[in-house]
Amino acid sequence: MPDDLPGLSPSEQLLIGLTRLGQAVRLSAWHNAGPTKLTPLQADILLFLAGDDRLRRQGEIVTALASTPPTVSDAVRALTAKELVDRRRDPTDTRAMTLALTADGRAEAERLSVIPEPLHAALAALDEEDVAAMLRGTTAMIRVLQEHQAIPISRTCVTCRFYRPDAHPDDPARPHHCAFVDAPFGDGELRLDCPDHQAADPGTAAPPAQAST
Ligand code: SF4
Repeated sequence: MPDDLPGLSPSEQLLIGLTRLGQAVRLSAWHNAGPTKLTPLQADILLFLAGDDRLRRQGEIVTALASTPPTVSDAVRALTAKELVDRRRDPTDTRAMTLALTADGRAEAERLSVIPEPLHAALAALDEEDVAAMLRGTTAMIRVLQEHQAIPISRTCVTCRFYRPDAHPDDPARPHHCAFVDAPFGDGELRLDCPDHQAADPGTAAPPAQAST
């Protein structure tokens, strides 16, 4: 930083930038509430349930969305009243309830999965290298926050037992390996919410990948 420019360090500036981006995503969710007036959390739950076809329990949503049981419970009750989510008995454990999207809920999830125009335009301003670098940095930060228990473990590659960082050092475009699909992949394909994630033993979780470029 030049001496004549007072102010914050690059790390502090980055934190401000991330805060602004978070605000933009949250505001966009409020503006994209749709005909059933979804709150951002209700929208996140629909997208989580649409992520794969497995029946989900409420506790899984609490963990995946870094929320609390009462907050998720209220949101699920609202989604059920809006006929977007069905509560069903778990066929493998009849004492437990699972959640599934109704046809209307699936349609809403499809609508929500379209990135709103302002965010789409902001993402389009990045080239492939920018996306890969930001994904790598974001993934590393999320992992450290999880280690400090500032946020719950989520379904990221770096906490997954199938993740093999830098397993292909001769391939800078795709240096990592996913043992679940048995395939190499690059920084630009690091997953922050993967339905196939299985938590690694905390003592053996892979370290964040080094820059591949
Ligand atoms: S299963 Fe998903 S989270 Fe795990 S390494 Fe493969 S892509 Fe990443």
